[in-house]
Amino acid sequence: MGKASRDKRDIYYRKAKEEGWRARSAFKLLQIDEEFNIFEGVKRVVDLCAAPGSWSQVLSRKLYLPAKLSPDSRDNDLPLIVAIDLQPMAPIEGVIQVQGDITNARTAELVIRHFDGCKADMVVCDGAPDVTGLHDMDEFVQSQLILAGLTIVTHVLKEGGKFIAKIFRGKDTSLLYCQLKLFFPVVTFAKPKSSRNSSIEAFAVCENFSPPEGFNPKDLYRLLERVGSPSGADDLDCSSGWLEGANKVYIPFLACGDLRGYDSDRSYPLPKDADGTYQSLDPVQPPIAPPYKRALEMKKASSHGIKDLEKPSSDS
Ligand code: SAM
Repeated sequence: MGKASRDKRDIYYRKAKEEGWRARSAFKLLQIDEEFNIFEGVKRVVDLCAAPGSWSQVLSRKLYLPAKLSPDSRDNDLPLIVAIDLQPMAPIEGVIQVQGDITNARTAELVIRHFDGCKADMVVCDGAPDVTGLHDMDEFVQSQLILAGLTIVTHVLKEGGKFIAKIFRGKDTSLLYCQLKLFFPVVTFAKPKSSRNSSIEAFAVCENFSPPEGFNPKDLYRLLERVGSPSGADDLDCSSGWLEGANKVYIPFLACGDLRGYDSDRSYPLPKDADGTYQSLDPVQPPIAPPYKRALEMKKASSHGIKDLEKPSSDS
């Protein structure tokens, strides 16, 4: 599919390039903010699974840059934004980058170290595995990322803080809702207008972090397992009680973003220049080391008739 046809088919892809966002995902965070006002009172944020960096750009533009440009700004009082991803990403003003796997305890430690005793006001996680199309499998891998995010949350988020995480809607959505409710009294599943209806993606917006009394982050897995077990659910303060049958939990699910605005599932006509042509814009920031880089190199090499494709390139 050519760039222009994608521009036509995906209005948010086009708008992202026009507004200088590295990915169309920026609109999802902006539309979540329109509904939940998530940036209010926020100065320290962790952006998990951040590459290529459009959420970090939103954080920089909404939090860091206004503070830096304010006449009363002081260097030691600027917002702190720490972004983590498996992939390296091009620099963003005011964003500290950590390259690593969020499911790895060492990465969590690196993030925590940046906060140097202070806690974060918000953790966001737009993590997504490479989707296979097998919904159960994709939902499972996604839930591992949310669990890793929640582990980091229990270490770095201050009481009262927020956690925004991408989820995949599936048969275990109510279980996930109950697990999040153990830590956040207010949990809403939201679908921004820029997230296609055809996608099972949605976002958990969790507010007012309040871990159970006496909670030790080491107990996280044991606690979460108990929500899913029939004997454990009753004695936990989870609004579901029992996850099946007549008492099945009601999950607050909200569409967000201007509902009269652009529809991500529609095609829009392309704006034309005076001479009737359409100029497609280049991506704002192509990924600097995408996982598909080696595959592209191999394809290029094979089209030039080069047979020796076994040796990986020095920078892959
Ligand atoms: N929020 C990003 C933005 O606005 O540009 C887009 C995130 S993209 C949808 C999902 C990201 O999750 C990918 O960059 C991928 O490398 C990252 N990811 C997946 N699994 C991860 C893991 N275990 N640890 C760290 N990052 C991971």
